[in-house]
Amino acid sequence: MITLKNIVKEYEGKQEGNKAVDGLDLEINKGEFVALLGPSGCGKTTTLMMLAGLLKPTSGEIYFGGRLVNHVEPKDRNIGMVFQSYALYPHLSVRDNIAFPLRERKIPKLEAYERAKETSKILQIDHLLDRKPAQLSGGQQQRVAMARALSKNPEILLLDEPMSNLDARLKLDVRDEIRKIQRNLGVTTIIVTHDQEEALAISDRVAILNGGKIQQYAPPNELFNHPVNLFVASFLGNPPMNLVKGTLEEKSGNQVVATNGFEYVLPEDRRLDKTHMGKQVLFGIRPHDIMICDSTDMQAIKMKIDLVEHLGSGKLVKAIDPQHKLETMIRILTGNEIEVNSGDNVYIKFKERKFHIFDMT
Ligand code: ADP
Ligand code: MG
Repeated sequence: MITLKNIVKEYEGKQEGNKAVDGLDLEINKGEFVALLGPSGCGKTTTLMMLAGLLKPTSGEIYFGGRLVNHVEPKDRNIGMVFQSYALYPHLSVRDNIAFPLRERKIPKLEAYERAKETSKILQIDHLLDRKPAQLSGGQQQRVAMARALSKNPEILLLDEPMSNLDARLKLDVRDEIRKIQRNLGVTTIIVTHDQEEALAISDRVAILNGGKIQQYAPPNELFNHPVNLFVASFLGNPPMNLVKGTLEEKSGNQVVATNGFEYVLPEDRRLDKTHMGKQVLFGIRPHDIMICDSTDMQAIKMKIDLVEHLGSGKLVKAIDPQHKLETMIRILTGNEIEVNSGDNVYIKFKERKFHIFDMT
């Protein structure tokens, strides 16, 4: 198990109080696949570099299986690492690239080559061992980098945006492959990415970072269905969650989110604490949790369709409230079978169990 305890990293020369990583706590189980996900500059790479031992934390502790490793050299940490830019040695053959970490550990050449061959088979690049990196495609180079990281049987695999140089199609294939290899070898893996789809698809748990702090650490489903704050809610999801500003009010024993005369009655089991009463809240609902319905439906809202975008798998409908009670445009995801055109008037309703409420303070 890997444990990060209250890790802080301040780069020298950076202004005081401007922490790249700011009090990070994280636990990763043996064999788990964890993603660090967040916008550019949120501290993902810095965290990975501290795990690798290439950077020292300003304060806090890093444990590998109960052993404090803050002062353990990278070469003694038993990790494999793949960087965004693969960083293969251009003058070495694929075989020598994969064998490199073994040769560094003074493993005899023949044995190193034998193990390089074994690893190359797992990644299906054993027919490329005599080539130089320049003679390989992007996907093949990526696999060589993976093989090099795995050749010394590391306990921990660290991947920093390993797929960002691959085209969209290849990305999907490589993603599946990384997951398969990880499962087969049981190696604890931490991947850094800014691509939410990638993180959600591949990981057991995802840590969402912003400003050097963990916002939420949970399995993909839970992050998506139960975001703990506005950052997580609006960061995850494509197209993004609709957010409507309103005030929480009480009307005839019901809690109501009200804005400009638009009122939405909260069901019994979704009531907020009374302390939120009278305060501004954000009412959040994902585009696929809104349905087009009949005018007679309870809480149906009349909307006018502004734009319809065809996504292939469905349609993204952008609608406005003709009475301007809702200040924002609403995004709705529908199936292809629903006939909608811009200019149409429709009624929509929210799937009751699927909305979120966020306090604005
Ligand atoms: P991410 O990988 O999430 O994009 P980084 O960990 O690279 O983010 O960076 C986190 C913060 O630390 C950013 O504000 C970045 O500008 C800063 N930073 C990164 N590397 C250095 C460095 N070597 N010196 C000073 N500041 C740095
Ligand atoms: Mg980075």
